[in-house]
Amino acid sequence: MTQRPPSPATTAAMRKCRSGNATELSFRAALAGALGPRVRFEAADLPGTPDAVCDDARVCLFLHGCFWHGCPVHYRPPRRNAAYWRDKVERNRARDQEVVRELGARGWTVLVVWEHELRGKGVGRVVAWVRSVLAGNPHRG
Ligand SMILES: [Zn+2]
Repeated sequence: MTQRPPSPATTAAMRKCRSGNATELSFRAALAGALGPRVRFEAADLPGTPDAVCDDARVCLFLHGCFWHGCPVHYRPPRRNAAYWRDKVERNRARDQEVVRELGARGWTVLVVWEHELRGKGVGRVVAWVRSVLAGNPHRG
């Protein structure tokens, strides 16, 4: 299969969307407010670099962009360079599954939040869900 690099305009748009948007930042702020020092962000020491981690409960969370991770509800392949993007997103999805499997094998509970779940009043809902998961996962160290 021939792959063509994306057009500069597309790349710029995707990069912009990838680097922490306002919703993502407000979600982080809400998590930090709810969990305080229990939560840390961008845990590069774990597979896949989870977006948020509570080490004491062995719970980690990924926030998946609807485009990059191929959201089943919102993903639409761009018309330009469709093969390039389909392949890229498929690789992301395969990697996501591998990361979840690997973290699970290490005893981590993995939460996956889609970008679209944060829309509207979604941030509050998702933070409440994370708290309930944490409440059900007391540290048994
Ligand atoms: Zn979505």
